[in-house]
Amino acid sequence: MSAYPFARRTLIGLALAGAALPIAASAQGPKPADLLGATGEAYFTDWLNDYYARALAGGTPKAVLDRELSGISPDPRVGLHDAGQPEFARPVSAYIQGVVSADRIAIGQKKRVSITQFPAIEARYGVPREILIGIWAMESGFGAQQGDMDIIRCLATLAALGRRRAWAEGELTAALKIIASGEASRAQLKGSWAGAMGQTQFIPSAFLSTAVDGDGDGKRDIWNSAPDALASAANLLDKGGWRRGEAWAREVILPRTFDYGLAEGPKELPGWWESKGARRADGQAWNKADADAPAQLLLPCGLNGPAFLIFQNHLAIRTYNNSVAYALGVGLLADRMAGGGPLKTPWPKETPLSLTDRMDAQTALQKLGFNPGQPDGVIGLGTRQSLRAWQKAKGLPADGYLSPDMIARLKAEVAGK
Ligand code: CA
Repeated sequence: MSAYPFARRTLIGLALAGAALPIAASAQGPKPADLLGATGEAYFTDWLNDYYARALAGGTPKAVLDRELSGISPDPRVGLHDAGQPEFARPVSAYIQGVVSADRIAIGQKKRVSITQFPAIEARYGVPREILIGIWAMESGFGAQQGDMDIIRCLATLAALGRRRAWAEGELTAALKIIASGEASRAQLKGSWAGAMGQTQFIPSAFLSTAVDGDGDGKRDIWNSAPDALASAANLLDKGGWRRGEAWAREVILPRTFDYGLAEGPKELPGWWESKGARRADGQAWNKADADAPAQLLLPCGLNGPAFLIFQNHLAIRTYNNSVAYALGVGLLADRMAGGGPLKTPWPKETPLSLTDRMDAQTALQKLGFNPGQPDGVIGLGTRQSLRAWQKAKGLPADGYLSPDMIARLKAEVAGK
Protein backbone atom coordinates (compact mmCIF):
# COMPACT_ATOMS: atom_id res chain seq x y z
CA MET A 1 0.00 0.00 0.00
CA SER A 2 1.31 3.42 -0.83
CA ALA A 3 0.66 5.84 1.99
CA TYR A 4 1.53 8.79 -0.24
CA PRO A 5 -0.92 8.88 -3.13
CA PHE A 6 -0.63 12.60 -3.76
CA ALA A 7 2.28 13.76 -5.90
CA ARG A 8 4.15 16.80 -4.68
CA ARG A 9 4.26 19.50 -7.31
CA THR A 10 6.93 22.08 -7.98
CA LEU A 11 7.18 25.48 -6.32
CA ILE A 12 7.25 27.68 -9.42
CA GLY A 13 5.39 30.95 -8.99
CA LEU A 14 5.58 31.23 -5.23
CA ALA A 15 7.61 34.40 -5.12
CA LEU A 16 5.27 36.27 -7.46
CA ALA A 17 2.20 35.01 -5.71
CA GLY A 18 3.50 36.10 -2.35
CA ALA A 19 4.19 39.66 -3.39
CA ALA A 20 0.68 40.98 -3.83
CA LEU A 21 -1.05 40.40 -0.53
CA PRO A 22 -0.06 41.96 2.80
CA ILE A 23 -1.14 39.10 5.04
CA ALA A 24 0.41 38.03 8.30
CA ALA A 25 1.93 34.57 8.42
CA SER A 26 0.18 32.07 10.64
CA ALA A 27 2.12 30.78 13.61
CA GLN A 28 2.95 27.25 12.48
CA GLY A 29 1.93 27.12 8.83
CA PRO A 30 3.14 28.72 5.65
CA LYS A 31 2.19 32.27 4.71
CA PRO A 32 -1.40 32.37 3.42
CA ALA A 33 -0.02 34.05 0.32
CA ASP A 34 1.76 30.77 -0.44
CA LEU A 35 -1.65 29.40 -1.25
CA LEU A 36 -1.89 31.55 -4.33
CA GLY A 37 -0.71 30.22 -7.65
CA ALA A 38 -1.73 26.86 -9.02
CA THR A 39 1.61 25.24 -8.39
CA GLY A 40 2.63 26.65 -5.01
CA GLU A 41 1.21 23.75 -3.07
CA ALA A 42 4.08 21.69 -1.73
CA TYR A 43 3.19 22.28 1.91
CA PHE A 44 -0.41 21.33 1.09
CA THR A 45 0.56 18.08 -0.60
CA ASP A 46 2.89 17.20 2.27
CA TRP A 47 0.10 17.77 4.78
CA LEU A 48 -2.38 15.86 2.59
CA ASN A 49 -0.23 12.75 2.40
CA ASP A 50 0.32 12.85 6.13
CA TYR A 51 -3.40 13.31 6.83
CA TYR A 52 -4.37 10.60 4.34
CA ALA A 53 -2.24 8.03 6.14
CA ARG A 54 -3.59 9.00 9.54
CA ALA A 55 -7.23 9.13 8.41
CA LEU A 56 -6.89 5.72 6.82
CA ALA A 57 -5.38 4.31 10.01
CA GLY A 58 -8.18 6.01 11.96
CA GLY A 59 -10.87 4.20 10.03
CA THR A 60 -11.97 6.53 7.24
CA PRO A 61 -12.72 4.23 4.27
CA LYS A 62 -10.00 4.21 1.60
CA ALA A 63 -12.57 4.56 -1.19
CA VAL A 64 -13.94 7.75 0.42
CA LEU A 65 -10.46 9.22 0.98
CA ASP A 66 -9.39 8.45 -2.59
CA ARG A 67 -12.56 9.78 -4.15
CA GLU A 68 -12.90 12.98 -2.08
CA LEU A 69 -9.25 14.00 -1.76
CA SER A 70 -7.99 13.17 -5.26
CA GLY A 71 -7.07 16.32 -7.13
CA ILE A 72 -7.90 18.56 -4.17
CA SER A 73 -6.07 21.88 -3.96
CA PRO A 74 -5.97 24.62 -1.34
CA ASP A 75 -8.58 27.36 -1.63
CA PRO A 76 -6.81 30.74 -1.49
CA ARG A 77 -9.93 32.46 -0.14
CA VAL A 78 -9.65 30.41 3.07
CA GLY A 79 -6.14 31.70 3.72
CA LEU A 80 -7.32 35.29 3.29
CA HIS A 81 -10.12 34.79 5.83
CA ASP A 82 -7.89 32.92 8.27
CA ALA A 83 -5.13 35.53 8.26
CA GLY A 84 -6.07 37.22 11.52
CA GLN A 85 -8.08 40.00 13.04
CA PRO A 86 -8.99 43.17 11.14
CA GLU A 87 -7.26 46.44 12.00
CA PHE A 88 -10.40 47.97 13.52
CA ALA A 89 -12.71 46.02 15.79
CA ARG A 90 -16.36 46.78 15.05
CA PRO A 91 -17.92 48.36 18.14
CA VAL A 92 -20.66 46.26 19.72
CA SER A 93 -23.19 49.11 19.37
CA ALA A 94 -22.74 49.25 15.58
CA TYR A 95 -22.84 45.46 15.35
CA ILE A 96 -26.08 45.17 17.34
CA GLN A 97 -27.78 47.99 15.45
CA GLY A 98 -26.93 46.18 12.22
CA VAL A 99 -28.19 42.86 13.55
CA VAL A 100 -31.50 44.04 15.05
CA SER A 101 -32.92 45.52 11.87
CA ALA A 102 -36.54 46.31 11.06
CA ASP A 103 -36.61 43.98 8.05
CA ARG A 104 -35.20 41.05 10.03
CA ILE A 105 -37.77 41.62 12.78
CA ALA A 106 -40.58 41.71 10.20
CA ILE A 107 -39.43 38.51 8.44
CA GLY A 108 -38.92 36.77 11.77
CA GLN A 109 -42.41 37.66 12.95
CA LYS A 110 -43.85 35.97 9.84
CA LYS A 111 -41.68 32.86 10.34
CA ARG A 112 -42.94 32.52 13.93
CA VAL A 113 -46.36 31.52 12.62
CA SER A 114 -45.55 30.03 9.21
CA ILE A 115 -43.34 27.17 10.44
CA THR A 116 -45.80 24.61 11.71
CA GLN A 117 -43.23 22.48 13.57
CA PHE A 118 -42.43 25.19 16.14
CA PRO A 119 -44.87 23.97 18.84
CA ALA A 120 -43.31 20.49 18.68
CA ILE A 121 -39.74 21.89 18.70
CA GLU A 122 -40.51 24.15 21.68
CA ALA A 123 -42.19 21.31 23.59
CA ARG A 124 -39.26 18.96 23.04
CA TYR A 125 -36.28 21.29 23.64
CA GLY A 126 -37.78 24.17 25.63
CA VAL A 127 -36.13 26.85 23.46
CA PRO A 128 -38.53 29.62 22.31
CA ARG A 129 -38.98 29.89 18.56
CA GLU A 130 -37.85 33.53 18.56
CA ILE A 131 -34.39 32.54 19.81
CA LEU A 132 -34.15 29.91 17.07
CA ILE A 133 -35.30 32.40 14.44
CA GLY A 134 -32.74 34.89 15.77
CA ILE A 135 -29.97 32.33 15.24
CA TRP A 136 -31.35 31.42 11.82
CA ALA A 137 -31.42 35.12 10.81
CA MET A 138 -27.85 35.69 12.01
CA GLU A 139 -26.37 32.50 10.59
CA SER A 140 -27.80 32.46 7.09
CA GLY A 141 -30.39 35.23 6.62
CA PHE A 142 -33.21 32.68 7.17
CA GLY A 143 -31.49 30.11 4.98
CA ALA A 144 -30.81 32.44 2.04
CA GLN A 145 -27.01 32.73 2.54
CA GLN A 146 -25.65 29.35 3.56
CA GLY A 147 -22.31 29.76 1.81
CA ASP A 148 -21.37 27.97 -1.39
CA MET A 149 -17.82 26.91 -0.59
CA ASP A 150 -16.73 23.26 -0.75
CA ILE A 151 -16.49 22.26 2.93
CA ILE A 152 -13.98 19.45 2.30
CA ARG A 153 -11.63 21.79 0.42
CA CYS A 154 -12.00 24.58 3.00
CA LEU A 155 -11.25 22.30 5.95
CA ALA A 156 -8.31 20.70 4.14
CA THR A 157 -6.91 24.18 3.49
CA LEU A 158 -7.36 25.22 7.12
CA ALA A 159 -5.69 22.02 8.30
CA ALA A 160 -2.76 22.49 5.92
CA LEU A 161 -2.34 26.14 6.96
CA GLY A 162 -1.71 24.83 10.44
CA ARG A 163 -3.01 27.54 12.76
CA ARG A 164 -6.02 25.39 13.69
CA ARG A 165 -4.78 22.05 12.36
CA ALA A 166 -6.15 19.67 15.00
CA TRP A 167 -9.57 21.29 14.91
CA ALA A 168 -9.73 21.41 11.11
CA GLU A 169 -8.58 17.80 10.71
CA GLY A 170 -11.24 16.68 13.18
CA GLU A 171 -13.90 18.52 11.20
CA LEU A 172 -12.56 17.22 7.89
CA THR A 173 -12.74 13.66 9.18
CA ALA A 174 -16.30 14.34 10.41
CA ALA A 175 -17.25 15.73 6.97
CA LEU A 176 -15.85 12.61 5.27
CA LYS A 177 -17.85 10.52 7.73
CA ILE A 178 -21.04 12.33 6.70
CA ILE A 179 -20.30 11.52 3.05
CA ALA A 180 -19.39 7.91 3.89
CA SER A 181 -22.66 7.49 5.76
CA GLY A 182 -24.64 8.65 2.74
CA GLU A 183 -26.47 11.34 4.73
CA ALA A 184 -25.17 14.05 2.42
CA SER A 185 -23.16 14.10 -0.78
CA ARG A 186 -19.97 16.03 -1.43
CA ALA A 187 -21.98 18.35 -3.66
CA GLN A 188 -24.32 19.05 -0.76
CA LEU A 189 -21.53 19.80 1.74
CA LYS A 190 -21.42 23.50 0.96
CA GLY A 191 -21.01 26.29 3.48
CA SER A 192 -18.68 28.93 4.86
CA TRP A 193 -14.89 29.03 4.60
CA ALA A 194 -14.69 28.00 8.27
CA GLY A 195 -16.64 24.79 7.75
CA ALA A 196 -20.13 25.87 8.86
CA MET A 197 -22.94 24.33 6.82
CA GLY A 198 -26.61 24.75 6.14
CA GLN A 199 -29.35 27.07 7.34
CA THR A 200 -28.09 27.16 10.93
CA GLN A 201 -24.40 26.78 10.02
CA PHE A 202 -23.39 23.56 11.77
CA ILE A 203 -19.80 22.37 11.59
CA PRO A 204 -19.55 18.69 10.53
CA SER A 205 -18.91 17.32 14.05
CA ALA A 206 -21.98 19.20 15.34
CA PHE A 207 -24.02 17.80 12.46
CA LEU A 208 -23.00 14.25 13.39
CA SER A 209 -23.62 14.66 17.11
CA THR A 210 -26.53 17.08 17.27
CA ALA A 211 -28.49 17.56 14.01
CA VAL A 212 -32.01 16.13 14.16
CA ASP A 213 -34.94 15.51 11.86
CA GLY A 214 -37.45 18.30 12.51
CA ASP A 215 -39.95 17.70 9.74
CA GLY A 216 -40.41 13.98 10.26
CA ASP A 217 -39.22 12.69 6.88
CA GLY A 218 -36.56 10.53 8.52
CA LYS A 219 -33.61 12.56 7.22
CA ARG A 220 -31.45 15.28 8.78
CA ASP A 221 -31.30 17.92 6.09
CA ILE A 222 -30.06 21.22 7.55
CA TRP A 223 -29.55 22.59 4.03
CA ASN A 224 -33.02 22.26 2.52
CA SER A 225 -35.33 21.83 5.51
CA ALA A 226 -35.87 24.82 7.79
CA PRO A 227 -37.59 22.67 10.45
CA ASP A 228 -34.58 20.30 10.46
CA ALA A 229 -32.14 23.21 10.80
CA LEU A 230 -34.20 24.92 13.54
CA ALA A 231 -34.79 21.72 15.54
CA SER A 232 -31.06 20.99 15.29
CA ALA A 233 -30.26 24.45 16.66
CA ALA A 234 -32.75 23.85 19.49
CA ASN A 235 -31.01 20.56 20.30
CA LEU A 236 -27.63 22.31 20.35
CA LEU A 237 -28.91 24.98 22.78
CA ASP A 238 -30.60 22.33 24.93
CA LYS A 239 -27.31 20.44 25.15
CA GLY A 240 -25.60 23.76 25.90
CA GLY A 241 -27.63 24.17 29.07
CA TRP A 242 -30.74 26.08 27.96
CA ARG A 243 -33.14 26.47 30.87
CA ARG A 244 -36.80 26.15 29.96
CA GLY A 245 -38.95 29.14 30.92
CA GLU A 246 -36.11 31.47 31.90
CA ALA A 247 -35.20 34.68 30.11
CA TRP A 248 -31.82 35.02 28.38
CA ALA A 249 -31.36 38.56 29.78
CA ARG A 250 -33.29 41.60 31.00
CA GLU A 251 -32.36 45.19 30.44
CA VAL A 252 -31.90 47.06 33.72
CA ILE A 253 -31.47 50.69 34.71
CA LEU A 254 -28.70 51.48 37.19
CA PRO A 255 -28.38 54.53 39.44
CA ARG A 256 -25.36 56.77 38.77
CA THR A 257 -24.00 55.84 42.18
CA PHE A 258 -23.96 52.14 41.21
CA ASP A 259 -20.80 50.10 41.75
CA TYR A 260 -19.97 49.39 38.09
CA GLY A 261 -17.13 47.13 39.20
CA LEU A 262 -19.82 44.45 39.77
CA ALA A 263 -20.10 44.00 35.99
CA GLU A 264 -19.05 40.54 34.79
CA GLY A 265 -18.62 39.67 38.45
CA PRO A 266 -20.93 37.87 40.88
CA LYS A 267 -23.87 35.71 39.81
CA GLU A 268 -26.71 36.75 42.07
CA LEU A 269 -30.51 36.61 42.08
CA PRO A 270 -32.42 39.58 40.59
CA GLY A 271 -33.54 40.56 44.11
CA TRP A 272 -29.88 41.00 45.14
CA TRP A 273 -29.28 43.24 42.15
CA GLU A 274 -32.38 45.27 43.10
CA SER A 275 -30.92 45.73 46.58
CA LYS A 276 -27.90 47.32 44.84
CA GLY A 277 -30.16 49.74 42.97
CA ALA A 278 -30.81 47.93 39.66
CA ARG A 279 -34.36 48.14 38.23
CA ARG A 280 -35.93 46.35 35.29
CA ALA A 281 -36.02 48.79 32.41
CA ASP A 282 -39.53 47.76 31.33
CA GLY A 283 -40.87 48.36 34.86
CA GLN A 284 -42.28 44.84 35.11
CA ALA A 285 -41.91 42.48 38.05
CA TRP A 286 -39.64 39.42 37.84
CA ASN A 287 -41.54 36.26 37.07
CA LYS A 288 -40.98 33.22 39.29
CA ALA A 289 -38.48 31.50 37.00
CA ASP A 290 -36.31 34.60 36.58
CA ALA A 291 -36.55 35.62 40.24
CA ASP A 292 -34.93 32.33 41.25
CA ALA A 293 -32.22 32.40 38.57
CA PRO A 294 -28.72 33.75 39.22
CA ALA A 295 -27.77 36.60 36.91
CA GLN A 296 -24.60 38.45 36.02
CA LEU A 297 -24.38 42.12 35.12
CA LEU A 298 -23.25 43.01 31.60
CA LEU A 299 -22.31 46.51 30.41
CA PRO A 300 -21.42 46.01 26.73
CA CYS A 301 -20.59 49.71 26.18
CA GLY A 302 -19.67 50.65 29.72
CA LEU A 303 -21.67 52.93 31.99
CA ASN A 304 -22.96 55.11 29.13
CA GLY A 305 -24.77 52.27 27.36
CA PRO A 306 -27.53 49.79 28.13
CA ALA A 307 -27.10 47.41 31.08
CA PHE A 308 -28.31 43.82 31.22
CA LEU A 309 -28.74 41.12 33.80
CA ILE A 310 -27.81 37.99 31.87
CA PHE A 311 -28.99 34.52 32.80
CA GLN A 312 -27.76 31.00 32.05
CA ASN A 313 -29.56 31.11 28.68
CA HIS A 314 -27.19 33.85 27.50
CA LEU A 315 -24.38 31.33 28.02
CA ALA A 316 -26.40 28.63 26.25
CA ILE A 317 -26.60 30.87 23.15
CA ARG A 318 -22.83 31.26 23.38
CA THR A 319 -22.33 27.53 22.93
CA TYR A 320 -23.39 28.35 19.38
CA ASN A 321 -20.90 31.15 18.95
CA ASN A 322 -18.84 32.15 21.98
CA SER A 323 -19.22 35.90 21.62
CA VAL A 324 -21.03 38.27 23.97
CA ALA A 325 -22.05 40.45 21.03
CA TYR A 326 -23.44 37.47 19.11
CA ALA A 327 -25.53 36.31 22.07
CA LEU A 328 -26.80 39.87 22.59
CA GLY A 329 -27.70 40.08 18.90
CA VAL A 330 -29.66 36.82 18.94
CA GLY A 331 -31.42 37.65 22.21
CA LEU A 332 -32.34 41.23 21.33
CA LEU A 333 -33.58 40.16 17.90
CA ALA A 334 -35.68 37.46 19.57
CA ASP A 335 -37.13 39.93 22.08
CA ARG A 336 -38.23 42.23 19.27
CA MET A 337 -39.75 39.37 17.26
CA ALA A 338 -41.70 38.40 20.38
CA GLY A 339 -43.19 41.90 20.49
CA GLY A 340 -40.83 43.68 22.87
CA GLY A 341 -39.96 47.33 22.34
CA PRO A 342 -36.55 48.89 21.74
CA LEU A 343 -34.07 49.23 24.60
CA LYS A 344 -34.82 51.96 27.16
CA THR A 345 -31.17 53.05 27.20
CA PRO A 346 -30.04 53.63 23.61
CA TRP A 347 -26.70 52.37 22.30
CA PRO A 348 -24.09 55.14 22.62
CA LYS A 349 -21.94 56.29 19.76
CA GLU A 350 -18.69 54.34 20.05
CA THR A 351 -15.31 55.12 18.52
CA PRO A 352 -13.73 52.12 16.76
CA LEU A 353 -10.36 51.35 18.36
CA SER A 354 -7.39 50.45 16.20
CA LEU A 355 -5.31 47.35 16.88
CA THR A 356 -2.46 49.65 17.93
CA ASP A 357 -4.68 51.48 20.43
CA ARG A 358 -5.91 48.23 21.92
CA MET A 359 -2.42 46.81 22.23
CA ASP A 360 -1.09 50.08 23.66
CA ALA A 361 -3.78 49.96 26.36
CA GLN A 362 -2.91 46.37 27.22
CA THR A 363 0.81 47.16 27.31
CA ALA A 364 0.12 50.15 29.59
CA LEU A 365 -1.96 48.02 31.97
CA GLN A 366 0.86 45.50 32.04
CA LYS A 367 3.48 48.18 32.77
CA LEU A 368 1.28 49.58 35.54
CA GLY A 369 1.10 46.15 37.17
CA PHE A 370 -2.53 45.24 36.39
CA ASN A 371 -1.79 42.05 34.44
CA PRO A 372 -4.16 42.00 31.45
CA GLY A 373 -2.36 38.95 30.02
CA GLN A 374 -0.11 38.99 26.98
CA PRO A 375 -1.03 42.05 24.82
CA ASP A 376 -2.81 40.71 21.72
CA GLY A 377 -5.29 43.45 20.81
CA VAL A 378 -8.24 41.31 21.85
CA ILE A 379 -10.20 43.05 24.59
CA GLY A 380 -11.42 39.95 26.41
CA LEU A 381 -12.50 39.34 29.98
CA GLY A 382 -8.90 39.40 31.27
CA THR A 383 -8.26 42.86 29.80
CA ARG A 384 -11.59 44.18 31.10
CA GLN A 385 -10.97 42.88 34.63
CA SER A 386 -7.50 44.40 34.57
CA LEU A 387 -8.94 47.72 33.37
CA ARG A 388 -11.56 47.62 36.14
CA ALA A 389 -8.83 47.13 38.76
CA TRP A 390 -6.91 50.10 37.36
CA GLN A 391 -10.09 52.24 37.20
CA LYS A 392 -10.83 51.39 40.85
CA ALA A 393 -7.30 52.32 41.84
CA LYS A 394 -7.77 55.68 40.10
CA GLY A 395 -11.18 56.33 41.69
CA LEU A 396 -12.89 56.09 38.28
CA PRO A 397 -16.19 54.26 37.68
CA ALA A 398 -14.92 50.70 37.19
CA ASP A 399 -17.01 49.71 34.17
CA GLY A 400 -14.10 47.96 32.40
CA TYR A 401 -14.92 49.76 29.17
CA LEU A 402 -11.96 50.70 27.02
CA SER A 403 -12.75 54.10 25.50
CA PRO A 404 -10.34 56.50 23.73
CA ASP A 405 -10.40 58.54 26.96
CA MET A 406 -9.27 55.52 29.01
CA ILE A 407 -6.51 54.74 26.50
CA ALA A 408 -5.26 58.34 26.69
CA ARG A 409 -5.27 58.25 30.52
CA LEU A 410 -3.41 54.92 30.57
CA LYS A 411 -0.75 56.15 28.16
CA ALA A 412 -0.36 59.41 30.06
CA GLU A 413 0.16 57.55 33.31
CA VAL A 414 2.82 55.31 31.77
CA ALA A 415 4.54 58.33 30.17
CA GLY A 416 4.56 60.13 33.53
CA LYS A 417 6.36 57.30 35.31
CA1 CA B 1 -35.97 16.03 7.82
